[in-house]
Amino acid sequence: MRRLLVAGNWKMNASVTSTEQLLTGVLGQLGSECDVAVFPPFPYLAQAVQTLAGSGVSVGAQNVAAEEAGAFTGEVSAAMLADVGCQMAIVGHSERRTLYGESDELVLAKTRQLLAHGLVAVVCVGETLDERKAGREEAVVAAQMALLIRDLAVADWDRIVLAYEPVWAIGTGETATPEQAQAIHAFIRAQLQQVGADVAEKTRILYGGSVKAANAAELFAQPDIDGGLVGGASLDATEFTGICRA
Ligand code: PEP
Repeated sequence: MRRLLVAGNWKMNASVTSTEQLLTGVLGQLGSECDVAVFPPFPYLAQAVQTLAGSGVSVGAQNVAAEEAGAFTGEVSAAMLADVGCQMAIVGHSERRTLYGESDELVLAKTRQLLAHGLVAVVCVGETLDERKAGREEAVVAAQMALLIRDLAVADWDRIVLAYEPVWAIGTGETATPEQAQAIHAFIRAQLQQVGADVAEKTRILYGGSVKAANAAELFAQPDIDGGLVGGASLDATEFTGICRA
């Protein structure tokens, strides 16, 4: 049985004060319905780790370097994330793929770094509107997963969470219908059969794209949707914990 995970991607939104207020608000309203993780910007990770200590809420980064250490100005390594108490990081978010040209090869290298340092990789996949209109969503997602499926060991999948995020639904207020989302989640799970039946059964596949407290319950009720990767709504403690309750 897969335990649901609700993950809040704060993107480039935070301050010392808002981090404290948001996390205190979340802790005040959170039950124990599901696994919960927050992904603040880099400068606030240590603060989040400290504020959430002992709460069971995990802290993750929104990105990680593909290299181990050294002359990579501006990069943050997986070892550093582990050192400050992070347990996870997002890789391959569509904003990184489209705005910063991140390739599937780079996503694999970043994933390997996270795994090497004992962190969980939340790997994002998803098609653009044009790709969906052309009926190519399955081909796009399969291509984004191909290197992971080919190159990672079976045991690596214990620390991989996939997030299906249709680009047309991110930050747009437009959500995939539960049926649309379930169909592609089932496809993603079927792809994982190439790694093994056990991996396909156990790997959590989150849905992301304008998830709110009002639409979360019907999305999460789908058999292959194992929680959500939440952007905008994760910046509001009441909305975010409402999604966790769903
Ligand atoms: C995201 O950025 O991962 C995301 C799903 O954003 P939003 O919930 O705002 O659509």
